[in-house]
Amino acid sequence: SYPALATRTAVVTGAASGMGEATARLLGAAGARVALLARRTERLDALAAEIAAAGGRALAVTADITDQASVDAAAKAVHDAFGPVDLVVNNAGVMLPNPVADGRIDEWTRMIDTNLTGALRIVRAFAADLTEAAADGRPADLVNVSSIASHVAFPDYAVYGATKAALTQLSTALRTEFGPRDVRVSAIEPGLTDTELGGHIDNPVLREQLGGMFAAIPALTADDIADLIGYTVTRPRHVNLRHLVALPTRQA
Ligand code: NDP
Repeated sequence: SYPALATRTAVVTGAASGMGEATARLLGAAGARVALLARRTERLDALAAEIAAAGGRALAVTADITDQASVDAAAKAVHDAFGPVDLVVNNAGVMLPNPVADGRIDEWTRMIDTNLTGALRIVRAFAADLTEAAADGRPADLVNVSSIASHVAFPDYAVYGATKAALTQLSTALRTEFGPRDVRVSAIEPGLTDTELGGHIDNPVLREQLGGMFAAIPALTADDIADLIGYTVTRPRHVNLRHLVALPTRQA
């Protein structure tokens, strides 16, 4: 655990499941105040109650990051409850593979709007908080959860990989805006991790293929990624881990 997290005020998107849920739980257990954003209210309420029962401070905020009005309302709810935040974990994402030749504009739009534009909406909502925290001499972090798919080409995952490559490059580029103001920006790129991410795949062949990958190698857990995020944001303020790739040992 990372005791330095106790002073932090965090927003975690995609906190309803997987890595976001694990990260929120880690932050809450360490004493950080943590706002939980996602669409599934019951999941968020249950996690907030669990964190509170363990003595932590959590706020469930139902939000759809593809909807600007929803993000605006969520930012207001977070600010009303906690004031400015100093740690933003842009973790929400969707993965909808299919051959590009199938022409699934519905899926492309959803992935781009969630994985890239959604992340940007969150940056827009909380950027001023981060620079303010840094100006006060406090740690300030933007963590973007990208993917190994931003570097490695997986058949039928072209658009997902493109959104993640864009997110990794956005993270690198944002350092030129935020770094000089002492706000760290980090991209975390996990490999195969056991979460609900594959649950939205509507192509039976690709669902089975992903299941085969999980059967073939021991995947990372959501807790593994939460731990990496906790580590990243508790380095000395002048140390910015820009780019971390974390793979299961057996994943090439
Ligand atoms: P999950 O599907 O478990 O988590 C994704 C989360 O994003 C959910 O909590 C979901 O909640 C939320 N979400 C999706 N769409 C929206 C939206 N429009 N608005 C708000 N929240 C949304 O999968 P993971 O934990 O694996 O995914 C976390 C991140 O990790 C993603 O960005 C993913 O691309 C990335 N990643 C995952 C890998 C893996 O192998 N699992 C590997 C590399 C990267 P809700 O549906 O309630 O909105």
